Amino acid sequence: MDNDTKKLLGITDPNLKFPDHWLKAKQDRKGHERLEIEGTLTYSPAACPNCGVINIKTITRHGSIISIYPFGQFRSQPLDLKIKTQRFYCHACHSTFTASSPIFDPQTSITKDLKHEIILRLTRVESIKDIADDLGVSASTVQRTLQSLADEITIPNHNYLPKALCINEFKSMRVINGAMSFIAVDGDRHKLFEILEDRRLYKLFEHYSAYSMSARRHVKYLVMNMNAAYQQLAKTVFPCTKIVYDRFHIVKHLNDTMNHVRIHVYNRLRRGNTEE
Ligand SMILES: [Zn+2]
Repeated sequence: MDNDTKKLLGITDPNLKFPDHWLKAKQDRKGHERLEIEGTLTYSPAACPNCGVINIKTITRHGSIISIYPFGQFRSQPLDLKIKTQRFYCHACHSTFTASSPIFDPQTSITKDLKHEIILRLTRVESIKDIADDLGVSASTVQRTLQSLADEITIPNHNYLPKALCINEFKSMRVINGAMSFIAVDGDRHKLFEILEDRRLYKLFEHYSAYSMSARRHVKYLVMNMNAAYQQLAKTVFPCTKIVYDRFHIVKHLNDTMNHVRIHVYNRLRRGNTEE
């Protein structure tokens, strides 16, 4: 498959390989014709997603599975992506895992593009059956997508906080009140927990104080950067928590310090001054 076709189809992940004859026709259970794009997904993983060990010949290939993803319609003909997906085995934790690609959503059996298309169609006055027929998927796929949206926007439950709460700040928009926004990730489930517009400490106090005491006592680890302000959160709102500095920020600080020393030494030598 050439690059222009990949771009047109939105399957530009370099880890996806397609043979010269990548298009096949087949019949579904009801006898309707469907087109199928065949490809292979494989790469050398950088680390194990289960135990985090860096792959220095620690992870080996472990067979493959065939996954079929509905891919919408092309000229009124339903399309599928049939991907031979690599499995891996980690010798450090003896677990297996499957190759992943930004094109697919690991939670569902459809591609992310098709999921977006379904969501877009759900905003119009249209029956679920019509959407399913137009996009060449089953009605239950459309219903599941609708349900997943509902799950994402449920009212926060003030009686639950995860055992490991990973927090950080990020720049979101220029117009918000605080300069930065706040993100919290559920470390137990490896899922986004919540995003708050304003990361200023008094706002965070206000927000987390709304949670019940038992929920706040449930937070055992507060994973964060070395921002001293957030340590106040641990002292006041989460009484049973331990602060854990995340690896990313430790490595970043080490790197910044090494760079600082390197530039200092460089400038000293450039000036011909070898003494401290
Ligand atoms: Zn592992």
